[in-house]
Amino acid sequence: MSRGILFVLSGPSGVGKGTVCSALRGNSPELVYSVSATTRSPRDGEQEGVNYFFKSREQFLHMIETDALLEHAEYVGNFYGTPRDFVEKTLSEGKDIILEIEVQGAIKVREKFAEGVFIFLMPPSLNELKQRIVGRGTETQATIDHRLSVAAEEMNLLHHYDYAVVNDEIEHACSRISAIITAEHCKRERF
Ligand code: 5GP
Repeated sequence: MSRGILFVLSGPSGVGKGTVCSALRGNSPELVYSVSATTRSPRDGEQEGVNYFFKSREQFLHMIETDALLEHAEYVGNFYGTPRDFVEKTLSEGKDIILEIEVQGAIKVREKFAEGVFIFLMPPSLNELKQRIVGRGTETQATIDHRLSVAAEEMNLLHHYDYAVVNDEIEHACSRISAIITAEHCKRERF
């Protein structure tokens, strides 16, 4: 059985990675989603094991020490990381998996999985990104400012990626990502 393909969807916070991923779930039910661990507190409506595995700082540091994470990054004062075993198991079962992670983590995954497919989700503009983060209404002004300055730097890291997808409208972005998934399978097709 051939291994599954690792897809990484990354890009600045607020660009809509989560929304695009949720919409992709509907379009591509065979795609498996990696659930990250984080030290951030749950937002309203977020569920343990569905949105994230919510961890204390001590629990997260233990995961790092025991090499349980494929990558991790500190982002705006919290840790985020991808549980390694689930990714390895899914790929070895021949299933595709998608990681929705921030840019520094994506670059670390690239070093370990050169054969992975890296997609950068872009806002139509930085101003549009600001409107989206403010409109979400979940962040303080200081966090919004911090996220925006990180986002401006992250836009310079586009060259690390295989594809750029502008998230102008969710449906358009999803159909472009679905096209990328199909193209990557065609690339690997063998007799
Ligand atoms: P949020 O707090 O808005 O859920 O996520 C903040 C940022 O962390 C987002 O850009 C999100 O994609 C990213 N993120 C979520 N999970 C992971 C992970 O496992 N690793 C890394 N490096 N970033 C993650």
